[in-house]
Amino acid sequence: MVGIENKISGNVMECLLFLLESPRITDDSCKRLSRNYPSREEYEQDMRVADCLRRFIDEMPGGFFIYHADGDEEIVYANEAMCRILECGSLSEFRQLTGNSFRGIVHPDELEDVEKSIWTQIQNSQYDLDQVEYRAVTKNGGVRWIDDYGHFIRSDITGNVFYVFAGDVTEKKLQQMKMVELLRQENDLREKKLHQIIDEYDQELKLVNQEHLRGLETIEGLSIDYESIFYVDLDQDLITAYRVSSRFIEDFPEDHLVHTFTGFDTPYISNWVHPDDRQLLRAVTQPDYFRAKLSEDNSFHINYRIIQDGKIRYMQMRIVNVGSSEHISQIVLGYRSVDAEIVQEIQQKQTLEETLRIANKAIKAKDLFLSNMSHDIRTPMNAIVGFAELAQKHIQETDKVKEYLGQIQTASGQLLSLLNDVLEISNLESGESLIEETKCSLMEIAHQVQMDILSKAAAKNITVSLDVFNLMHDNVYADRPKLSQTLLRLVDNAVKYTNNNGNVTVTVEELESPQDGFVDYLFRVEDNGIGIGRDFLSQIFIPFEREKNTTLSGMYGSGLGLAITRRFVEMMGGRVDVSSTVGKGSVFTVRISLRIDEDGPLFSEELQMQSESSYMEPKRILIVDDNEINLEIEYEVLKDVGYLVETAEDGSIAVEKVRQSSPGYYDLILMDIQMPVMDGYSATKAIRQIENPVLAGIPIIAVSANAFEEDKRMAIESGMNAHLAKPLDTPRLYKLIRKFLKEAKHSKHHVI
Ligand code: ADP
Repeated sequence: MVGIENKISGNVMECLLFLLESPRITDDSCKRLSRNYPSREEYEQDMRVADCLRRFIDEMPGGFFIYHADGDEEIVYANEAMCRILECGSLSEFRQLTGNSFRGIVHPDELEDVEKSIWTQIQNSQYDLDQVEYRAVTKNGGVRWIDDYGHFIRSDITGNVFYVFAGDVTEKKLQQMKMVELLRQENDLREKKLHQIIDEYDQELKLVNQEHLRGLETIEGLSIDYESIFYVDLDQDLITAYRVSSRFIEDFPEDHLVHTFTGFDTPYISNWVHPDDRQLLRAVTQPDYFRAKLSEDNSFHINYRIIQDGKIRYMQMRIVNVGSSEHISQIVLGYRSVDAEIVQEIQQKQTLEETLRIANKAIKAKDLFLSNMSHDIRTPMNAIVGFAELAQKHIQETDKVKEYLGQIQTASGQLLSLLNDVLEISNLESGESLIEETKCSLMEIAHQVQMDILSKAAAKNITVSLDVFNLMHDNVYADRPKLSQTLLRLVDNAVKYTNNNGNVTVTVEELESPQDGFVDYLFRVEDNGIGIGRDFLSQIFIPFEREKNTTLSGMYGSGLGLAITRRFVEMMGGRVDVSSTVGKGSVFTVRISLRIDEDGPLFSEELQMQSESSYMEPKRILIVDDNEINLEIEYEVLKDVGYLVETAEDGSIAVEKVRQSSPGYYDLILMDIQMPVMDGYSATKAIRQIENPVLAGIPIIAVSANAFEEDKRMAIESGMNAHLAKPLDTPRLYKLIRKFLKEAKHSKHHVI
């Protein structure tokens, strides 16, 4: 357009416009146009050029149209190509479609923007040019995209007009839009992908953070036992404290956690570490040592001791390589207390050593047993074989044969008891032996034991006394065979290991009053025999163990008796103990809780009397009471069980009787408190003041209707030995009397 304009003069353009608009150009305007020319030839020349142009424009393939820039923007001309773009067959169809106005070409939605743009461009254009793009609606209702290059031309003759070259850029535009859409889609896709990547990254970051946090928690958890933790960079010779115990706190205050590694532990070593371990710790805490050890393994530890509150405590330093294994520089040091573990280890070691010692001892004991057994079997076997031969030789001599047969009988008895013991212990070890409780009388069991041992004891002239009087509950549920065997074995040993003319005492005692139907009983077997060495006491219940002195003395035995005894007692839920002094004698005690049989008969008077008489010659008791009935009751109760009894009607008579008696005549006094002439307190005081110490020391038991604590206190203060309340509790009376008579017997013994 610009090119055309340059070549074509302004008159040609007016001529062209004239020609294009000719149907509406008046003669007047024609005259005005020709009048602008100096000559007719020039006018005709331009008209010819314009005509050529018009024809060219008419036939050119691109759209071209002219419209008035003013008023209704009326269309002056549109070429065929332009009409085709809007699918019009002729210019008149075109005019009809567009309402013969530029405004009819542009899509109404865009018109305002398009016109604004055109005028803005024209105002700013040096050559009055503009370029706009818009949609146009075709005759068939379709939409085409128009690329519009306009030229604003001022003309006096035709008025101001726009020359417009219009191209149909619909395909290009659609292509472009398609491209834009594709680009947008691609963009969306990219954006989506980007978001996805960001999301994934966020997710990964979250996981990494969680992992990191878990890692930190794990480290924190794993290092919980460590009271101090340090990170060390050996290359830089730096140490950073992460956690410090009170032992490091002075060297690593909170505001100064980074230090030079070399010598960081010097104060710690000299303040805390055991002097014997200081050198070790100094030698270990060296970069070269760390590097050498960590090149073999990723971590190692050393144990050492510290001294805290004057006590030794065990510590451990663990060194871990946390950096490269090729170049060792970054390490972690952890300090922790291993006191409990080491102490436990030491204890375990001690226990193991003890177990080993016991096991070795058991093996030795078994070896000893085997050699004892062969000795123990051989001895009676020798006797049997030897005496049988002798008997055969002297078959005619009745006395001798009788003696040999007796020896054979003793030896067979020994063999039998050995076999029984071995059998019993194997039964116990196999768990075949069980507890079977039946109703039984403890008194009766004790008497049976006394009977069983009688002949053995008599052979050595040993007295076996029985003290069962304190028993309030004689009838119990117990495994009778095991209980009597237990007692018999203890009594048998007592007799066996006591020299001729010795004493053995068996006591059965109730320790406490019944609880939930059970009573704690104490069985005591005491002898004044050879005694047991202190060293052997701890082994006495171990199977096959016998003390040297017993084996050397040739006393027959297997070393199984006490082992069996202990197993029996433990099976019955009790315990057996021993105390002994060499040369003085031994005391074996068995403590068992037994269920009592409340409905069982009271122990028989006969048994009681028997037991009493087995260790007691008759004792004389003086009863002091002003009440005749009381006197009579007490008299009968005491006479019944074999005491010699005398009476006095008041305190003064009693004092006189004692004063006149020879020492030892009265063994005990039962004293009433409230009496005419002289009361019990005064009488006691008077007796205690008698010159002869034996008479003054006679045991006095108060028997009074007043049972308050105050009365008891006054009785004791006046010099009496005990206080009993009326009405009399006979078993308790017997018990007290026996207690004092026994004590008196012992003290007499001491005096002598
Ligand atoms: P045995 O009497 O068959 O040797 P025991 O197991 O009954 O076996 O006793 C083991 C050892 O205990 C005896 O060999 C003896 O050395 C010692 N012993 C047991 N009772 C007494 C006692 N009353 N006095 C001294 N020593 C005793």
